[in-house]
Amino acid sequence: KEGLTRTRQNLVEKVEALVTGRPKIDEELFEELEEALISADVGADTSLDLVERLRQTVKAQKIGDPARIKDLLQEEVARILGEQAQPVAFDHQPTVVLIVGVNGVGKTTTIAKLAHRWKQEGRKVLLAAGDTFRAAAIDQLEIWGQRVGVEVIRHQEGSDPSAVAFDAVQAAVSRGVDVLIIDTAGRLHNKSHLMNELSKINRVLDRALPGAPHETLLVLDATTGQNAVSQARLFSEAVGLTGLVLTKLDGTAKGGVILAIAAEMQAPVKFIGIGEKMDDLRDFDPPEFARALFG
Ligand code: GDP
Repeated sequence: KEGLTRTRQNLVEKVEALVTGRPKIDEELFEELEEALISADVGADTSLDLVERLRQTVKAQKIGDPARIKDLLQEEVARILGEQAQPVAFDHQPTVVLIVGVNGVGKTTTIAKLAHRWKQEGRKVLLAAGDTFRAAAIDQLEIWGQRVGVEVIRHQEGSDPSAVAFDAVQAAVSRGVDVLIIDTAGRLHNKSHLMNELSKINRVLDRALPGAPHETLLVLDATTGQNAVSQARLFSEAVGLTGLVLTKLDGTAKGGVILAIAAEMQAPVKFIGIGEKMDDLRDFDPPEFARALFG
């Protein structure tokens, strides 16, 4: 429930306002609902589909009371978000987690949060500063590493990110690390550039440890709304994603974007970020999220 207040206001409370005091369910209501969903960043296609399904259900079940719309919508939202949480599986030693996403979305913070979480669960964690293009990114990761109490494998600024990844895997193996989290550069020139860079890292990882990376998580910033959806598309075409992290859900009214993302992407949302501190990460539990939003 934490951090969803503004999204709830922007989405659920708007829907409540639409149905309250309305004598019947009519086409005008469906159209207003669709507008409300789109303005809450649910995305045009997803909003259209969602409302169409509501129309069908209302017709099939001969529902007449507008007050029922909220419950029906909650069911549809739960369906889009998926049945169950899909946590990271630790069935490799070390489990290698590659983190991708554009600059500023909260990648470094998310890495720190994951490291903190997994360390608290008793796992030995190692970080790799794979964003070698920005000295600040390397330093930032180092600072978080110290705060969380995990080591960071780093090379100089400007060095080959694949070399960092390779060294980090070797270090992880020789030190008996459980989870290696690798940061990557977030500058985005174009798709082929992104693809080349990430596929090189993937090749090198697989050579260093066959099967690695075991997870590739894309970090997206909820406050960017539909831009997050375009980034999700771009990255999923460039690299095989196993999961998504949606950050900055706290304080944004654009949390509805999670529906657009869940409806469109194959990879599930695995974590959500709800603040700047290292504890501010939650497993994404779809039914719980739907209940928190509508409850
Ligand atoms: P990077 O460039 O992708 O590595 O982004 P950073 O991790 O440096 O984060 C960019 C900014 O977003 C920082 O000011 C973070 O404190 C902030 N941030 C990251 N995650 C969250 C979150 O879940 N909620 C909020 N409110 N801020 C966040």
